[in-house]
Amino acid sequence: MPREYRFIADAMLGRLAKWLRLLGFDTLYYPDISDVSLLKIARQEDRIILTRDTHFLRIKNLKDYLFINSNNTFEQLVEVIKALDINGAVLYSAVKEFNLSRCIKCNGILIDVKEKKDVGGLVPEHIYIQFNKFLRCQDCGNVYWEGTHMKRFRERILEILKRETP
Ligand SMILES: [Zn+2]
Repeated sequence: MPREYRFIADAMLGRLAKWLRLLGFDTLYYPDISDVSLLKIARQEDRIILTRDTHFLRIKNLKDYLFINSNNTFEQLVEVIKALDINGAVLYSAVKEFNLSRCIKCNGILIDVKEKKDVGGLVPEHIYIQFNKFLRCQDCGNVYWEGTHMKRFRERILEILKRETP
């Protein structure tokens, strides 16, 4: 999984943050964070700031940031992949094989659920019957499986990666 880059997204980039997590990137996002705190965390934890806010561009000595132009989340993702020259093949296999590694909600690490019965009662019954592979966030406990949403998301990401990466 891609782990070389660590991000912190500004308040306008919540969806992009979730999608980066889906792709395995360590991405922080706090909807109500102040600019000062965001800068502080970015510096302390050596994170690239993702921002749509032009005033960040005026901060002196700000090196590690990426200004995102588009309003559209898929296009934003393409901007990140291109700007950082992220290896498309790595992302491609990660997405294709459904190797989720980060919690979309909280950025925590996901672990494989060893015994299906461990998620009994935590997911809807029809999901429990239909799926055999589950993942669970070790921080917040959220359970993941590859449902329809995930499939559709994967298909779109794969399309983008095919188109935008060598
Ligand atoms: Zn979580």
